Amino acid sequence: MPVRRAIAAVSIMTVVCLVSFVYSYSKGAVKDYYSTGPGEMGPTVLEPGKMTVEVDYQPGYAPHDDALVQFKSRAENYSGRSVELLKTETAIPTMQNVTIENVVSYEKEFRRSPPVDGDRVSIYVIYVGGKFSENSDVLAATYLSLSIVVFKSEIVRYAPQGGMCDDIMIVNECKVERSALVHEFGHVLGLVGLVYASPADHEDPQHPSHCTNESCVMHHSIDVYKGGIPRPPPYAFDRDCLDDLNIIRASSYGKYYLKDQRFDAVVVIIAAAGVSGIAAVVLWDRRRRKASTIPQVLSGPATPP
Ligand SMILES: [Zn+2]
Ligand SMILES: [Zn+2]
Repeated sequence: MPVRRAIAAVSIMTVVCLVSFVYSYSKGAVKDYYSTGPGEMGPTVLEPGKMTVEVDYQPGYAPHDDALVQFKSRAENYSGRSVELLKTETAIPTMQNVTIENVVSYEKEFRRSPPVDGDRVSIYVIYVGGKFSENSDVLAATYLSLSIVVFKSEIVRYAPQGGMCDDIMIVNECKVERSALVHEFGHVLGLVGLVYASPADHEDPQHPSHCTNESCVMHHSIDVYKGGIPRPPPYAFDRDCLDDLNIIRASSYGKYYLKDQRFDAVVVIIAAAGVSGIAAVVLWDRRRRKASTIPQVLSGPATPP
């Protein structure tokens, strides 16, 4: 069984993204949800249906309500699904350094909504305090195909606490958190280049799975203090990323049987897909990615003003 480890993350100030791809492509096979990687369920999420966003948070690290509402609206817009938000304070213990293994184990313990249930998909978002063990400047990361971790203490360390997303204040907690959520949702959908090959030359070779456009929310960093002049963080996909969503929609990733051990059910996501030109592109892309499986850690200025 091939081992996959894929993390797609967003950070600010520092340029950090840890991406390692060894896809185990198992079309038609039964697959454990906890072995799926970022982007793999993108084609499924982009199909018609409903979506739950289950937010579980550690006491003291609650999500910003307006950021969540704004994220919901974006998620509905980009996926075409109606979104139901579930928000629960959860008994997640205090952690200094948070590993992916930690969040996966809490997801297994606390997730209530099955990843896929009929035409409903469920994105799991876990809010924690502490720093990401693999890089302390990371704000959020997508660690499974439908699972996101938000390092809430890092968001409020970086951005002035409180405020609303339409405030006149250029940078605040709400705006940064909204951007982090939309960015990670982009990885859930498959951006950039996670499950397809983009015809547009917009994937940053220095930061795989991110967009080269600084004005796009899929840029690898949210550098709102660049040059010492604050600017609002982007929270929308640019044209190239939007165009890519149409390619992802047609791709054959996610078209396998998903077995969720916790819910002890085999869920048919989509009937076995036939071989198509898109599938060939995806397979080619997968081979291309295998050549660059070394995680990258790049650092830059780390202290916000
Ligand atoms: Zn990212
Ligand atoms: Zn983009």
